[in-house]
Amino acid sequence: MSQSLPVVAVASLGGTISMTPSDAAGGVVPTLDAEQLARSVPGLSEVATIRTASLRQLPSASLRYDDLMETLAWAEAQVCDGAAGVVLTQGTDTLEETAFLLDLFWKLPAPLIVTGAMRAPQAAGADGPANLLAAVRTATHSDSAGRGVLVVMNDTVHYARWVSKGDSLAVQAFVSHDGGVAARVVEGRPTFFHAPPARPAPLARPVRAWPKVALVTAVLGDEGELAELAVKAGYEAVVIAAQGAGHVSFGFAGRIGELTAQVPVVIASRASAGATASQTYGYVGAEIDLVRRGAHMSGWLSALKSRLLVSALLASGVGAGEVGEALANWSKLTRQ
Ligand code: GLU
Repeated sequence: MSQSLPVVAVASLGGTISMTPSDAAGGVVPTLDAEQLARSVPGLSEVATIRTASLRQLPSASLRYDDLMETLAWAEAQVCDGAAGVVLTQGTDTLEETAFLLDLFWKLPAPLIVTGAMRAPQAAGADGPANLLAAVRTATHSDSAGRGVLVVMNDTVHYARWVSKGDSLAVQAFVSHDGGVAARVVEGRPTFFHAPPARPAPLARPVRAWPKVALVTAVLGDEGELAELAVKAGYEAVVIAAQGAGHVSFGFAGRIGELTAQVPVVIASRASAGATASQTYGYVGAEIDLVRRGAHMSGWLSALKSRLLVSALLASGVGAGEVGEALANWSKLTRQ
């Protein structure tokens, strides 16, 4: 192995990329560790010197905040110990959330990259090895620095802030709608389409237990009872995946007015792309009314990511009164 190869630290957290069939379970379950994953990738040892760690072996729906904060500390330690970049392998079901959560705290210029697979290793056309190879190649490339946490899937590089899982099972599952993809990996190297985007200052590490923040989807005939129940049950903030550009029914709007006196309320859109409005619609339950009632609009940030941002802010000791400003910073789509 050449000494001049960059070091890339690879950690496995579980997910389809690591799953093999189990007769007892009747389907695939996470079994492979980081070393096995790295060994399964043809040519990986020619791209980088790989340092592996098997941190978790979980389906990604069962990853918890503590798992991710420990992973973050491990990733930082790897960079401090000379790694040019870090790659995490995990399940794709929550990848758009975990990558963004890590992005909120990632303060190093070195790339932290999250990848996974849509097809398990024994399936025809398994995509895990190709994704891991593309992720490591991206981790070693100088253009990847200073872009925060990146997601590499299907030879496409996404920003953690704008990526979403747009398809439950397809290999081309991940999309970056309005933020746009960061790069494509072509002939073994990432081609970035723009200069690194402006990034808000990373959040301070949590200083208290993670709060429960509710995510409630507003639906036809909805009067907002679930949002009210969540606050009564002790949820410390509510994010509403609202209709269209951030709209709810007359009844729901009334409840939001009462809830904002108690907890931060964020209005995102339940649509898969686009921003919330700020100054277009004047009827009761539309954005102008909801902001007057004390709610914050999520701008370009999705409902899923808004919930994580509010959770992380409160966990980091940011007061409820500062949630609106932080949300405005993280939801800007402008480039530097
Ligand atoms: N489709 C998921 C995956 O790609 C299932 C399991 C998980 O998210 O851990 O990994």
